[in-house]
Amino acid sequence: MRYKNIETNVLHAGIEPDPTTGAIMTPIFQTSTYVQAAPGDHKGYEYGRTQNPTRDALQNNLAALEGMNYGLCFSTGMGAVDACIKLLNPGDEVVSTNDLYGGSYRIFTKIFANYGIVFKFVDMSDIAAVEAAVTPKTKMVWVETPTNPLLRIIDIEAMCKIGHSVGATVVVDNTFASPYLQNPADFGADVVMHSATKYINGHSDVVMGVLCVNDEVLKDRLAFIQNSCGATPGPMDSFLVLRGIKTLHIRMQRHCENGKVIANYLANHPKVGEVYWPGFESHKNHEVAKKQMKDFGGMISFTLKSDSVDSALTFLKSTKLFALAESLGGVESLVGHPTTMTHASIPKAEREANGLKDSLIRLSVGIEHIDDLIADLDTALSHV
Ligand SMILES: *Cc1c(COP(=O)(O)O)cnc(C)c1O
Repeated sequence: MRYKNIETNVLHAGIEPDPTTGAIMTPIFQTSTYVQAAPGDHKGYEYGRTQNPTRDALQNNLAALEGMNYGLCFSTGMGAVDACIKLLNPGDEVVSTNDLYGGSYRIFTKIFANYGIVFKFVDMSDIAAVEAAVTPKTKMVWVETPTNPLLRIIDIEAMCKIGHSVGATVVVDNTFASPYLQNPADFGADVVMHSATKYINGHSDVVMGVLCVNDEVLKDRLAFIQNSCGATPGPMDSFLVLRGIKTLHIRMQRHCENGKVIANYLANHPKVGEVYWPGFESHKNHEVAKKQMKDFGGMISFTLKSDSVDSALTFLKSTKLFALAESLGGVESLVGHPTTMTHASIPKAEREANGLKDSLIRLSVGIEHIDDLIADLDTALSHV
């Protein structure tokens, strides 16, 4: 059962009271196998890698949140990326953004390039550059928006048109937006990918990945890969993510509210250089953001006026509430240094060519009281 609004779907879509007990919360089916009455005579469940009722509820719920037909969960976001690229064959080309999540860049260039798949990285906010990069061999277009860490916004609709013109499958990594802020299928995406580790679960206590699709054939191929390669999540983690999702809409509203105040605070601070946040009217892709997103999110990056690694490190050591850590999208605020953390696997020359400065600081704004967050930033900036 699905409802019209995501605020209701987070709680109810795909979730039924347990038929044997009436338990309102989906039970944790902690089992590796299922008893059969006779060979092949079973209740739709054979083996834990292949099917699990807790995972099923989560998969159906996530599909509803993306407004798509099917959801498939993986043990991590990278497990989902891995399954998606395994749709391809040697010689196939993938066109992707040059401002890509470091782990995706790593699996593309260090793992799958060895299997004869060709990856091209272009600035996807430049539509002409994408048109120039696709060829009849392009079988997949890999979009990530907002991008990490520069918060560029890529026009999903335009990318789908270009990808579909050469028959490519268009995948959107929707991790930074969450299904609350953006549903890429509305603009034509064939596959929507998430690291559920981030906003979807939202409580920094699980790693998980998800792929959502509309096409049944594509779903069957991905389910075959999911079962064959085996990067499936366990029932306990599935339960925790189901629970996290129940407050996705409330959390996202507060992430956005706090994000807006902090972006404006930073933009007016004398020690801050550039602030990257798609909510600014002056942001290069603001109009695209308004078209495809409900609000602008809680991810903000900025540089310091004295553009040095040392001043960035001073800042990073001075925040108390903003914890220095990898990851994002949890209820608590985090701060990170892409150059030495999430993006360390991207070579320095490539980072700089893509506009990623060494003093860049990335904030994942949490849902704490805004006054406490501003006070923490104020103190840390006073040390710079
Ligand atoms: C974290 C992340 C991933 C990878 O997900 P894991 O759950 O860490 O494996 C992929 N894409 C983006 C944009 C991410 O932030």
